[in-house]
Amino acid sequence: MDTTPELITDPVGDPADAAPGAGDLTELDELVTRCAACPRLVEWREEVARVKRAAFRDQEYWGRPIPGFGPPDAEIAIVGLAPAAHGANRTGRMFTGDRSGDVLFRALHEVGLASQPEAVSPHDGLTLRNIRITAPVRCAPPANKPTPAERDTCRPWLVRELDLMRPTLRVVVVLGGFGWQALLPVLADAVWQVPRPRPKFGHLAHAELPATDGGTPLHLLGCYHVSQQNTFTGKLTPKMLREVFQQAKQLAGRRTS
Ligand code: SF4
Repeated sequence: MDTTPELITDPVGDPADAAPGAGDLTELDELVTRCAACPRLVEWREEVARVKRAAFRDQEYWGRPIPGFGPPDAEIAIVGLAPAAHGANRTGRMFTGDRSGDVLFRALHEVGLASQPEAVSPHDGLTLRNIRITAPVRCAPPANKPTPAERDTCRPWLVRELDLMRPTLRVVVVLGGFGWQALLPVLADAVWQVPRPRPKFGHLAHAELPATDGGTPLHLLGCYHVSQQNTFTGKLTPKMLREVFQQAKQLAGRRTS
């Protein structure tokens, strides 16, 4: 069986040109999945999809950029850094199919933000409630490290996504310091004022960012990343993760359950 991922036949070359024209999140998500703006990441994501990990050798990898996941009228967003090579780059859905996702979706389910605790594929029936998961870099990078140029090239996708979510968006939970650093320029490119000095990342770090047009402010909430390095060592426990999402719900004006 040929499990080579389908090549993108109509690639998007520059997110800065394409993203502002997306009229809604469905259109934006479709454009994101056709992006080929970063040569190194295109080569890597497709190479990983061809070579595969032994445990997934019978599966067809997605091997393309990952769109956001969750309802367009969510009040809460989760922002990590970039997809995992054998997680989202395999399944096509953020945090789906890897150990980080196992921890994340269990916590979301426990606080009522996800319909089920497991996330194994885009066809597993999981739905999110009032929360959307996205990232500042949409392609899996080698060693989980995008270059500054790749991060900057990808930025317009998230700027437009947050812009389209703005009517309801109240809180962004940021997973990890790298995601925090990548997100602040995105917010400044959108409509929020990032204070100087910039707010520092930390677990449960909280900053309220006013909108430059006088609109609703945005709450930023830091959370240690759900990486195995953090969850296996106890730096981030399931209880700590639940508390972050409960706080996010409170900041968004919803009762915790
Ligand atoms: S990282 Fe972003 S800008 Fe670069 S190819 Fe992937 S989707 Fe496009």
